Amino acid sequence: MENRPLVTQIQRFSVNDGPGFRTIVFFKGCPLRCQWCHNPETQSFSPEIYWKSRLCVQCGHCFDVCPNQAVFPPIPPEEAQREDSTYYKIDKAKCDKCMKCVEACSYGALEQVGKPMSMEEIVEELERDRPFYDNSGGGVTISGGEPLVFGEFIRKLMDALKARNLHICLDTSGHSPWEILEPVAERADIILYDLKHLDSDEHERLTGVPNQLILHNLQRLTAKGCRIWLRIVVLPGCTDSIDYHRRVVAFLRSLPGSLERIDLLPFHNWCQDKYRWLGRPWSFGETESVHPDEVEPLLELYLSAGLNATIGGSGFQAQATASG
Ligand code: SF4
Ligand code: SF4
Repeated sequence: MENRPLVTQIQRFSVNDGPGFRTIVFFKGCPLRCQWCHNPETQSFSPEIYWKSRLCVQCGHCFDVCPNQAVFPPIPPEEAQREDSTYYKIDKAKCDKCMKCVEACSYGALEQVGKPMSMEEIVEELERDRPFYDNSGGGVTISGGEPLVFGEFIRKLMDALKARNLHICLDTSGHSPWEILEPVAERADIILYDLKHLDSDEHERLTGVPNQLILHNLQRLTAKGCRIWLRIVVLPGCTDSIDYHRRVVAFLRSLPGSLERIDLLPFHNWCQDKYRWLGRPWSFGETESVHPDEVEPLLELYLSAGLNATIGGSGFQAQATASG
């Protein structure tokens, strides 16, 4: 597995994960379980299956081929697609991920999420977008899940990309032993570092892990002079108050080194389909998206503290920098 970690997607032309046009590699597997996660398909370390009810005609081919009786019998499509339907195609407790059902579905209603990829395959995919990197000042963003759980593979991948003179961003939660983080951080041109919550108890409630290691790693990275873009999701009822952000600003100003910028990311709920396709409930599914205008007062707080901050974190956005 370490030589061929699972990749859920290689996404092209992103403008929100580092400067210029980025091609993002999403590795599958994460030690955190952020309740608001926008990429729930990257959490598990195993392959998963999307079932897209709107594409399913309930033909029963998947039911016929499953060797483990892990596919539920067809029901009328309109019943399966009803808003309040609890029908889901696959019984996960019985499924061994043989993927025979995916092969049998000719309607695209079943899709394997997470395919093993070798270093060579990933590099070849990333090389294809070189003209876009060159024309936009962009490059590659290594993301997940949490890429640091594949530390040795990621180090070698970054060496291969550096040998090709490609710009690299590392997107991480920072939840990693320093011995793994440091050599990876040294290879990154920019680190996109998440600050999920300042208070450890709340961090643990929201993500499943405390934050001491993450905050300590952030201190060490700034002390080393790494280029860091800190990312803070503005989450309704959790990280959206002025008082909370005042405390964040005080913490950031106490760091031993500086941050290149801080990106305030308004929460959105556009990923509801992914949860449905995985057959998983989402506790933030009913939460309204935050409009960027609502984040303006928070932005002002950072700017007036002399911190370089943006709303949304676009790699093309003119950076708002305050003096003093
Ligand atoms: S094979 Fe595809 S379309 Fe047919 S029942 Fe299964 S998921 Fe639905
Ligand atoms: S992946 Fe294999 S075991 Fe799982 S539901 Fe599909 S056919 Fe059955």
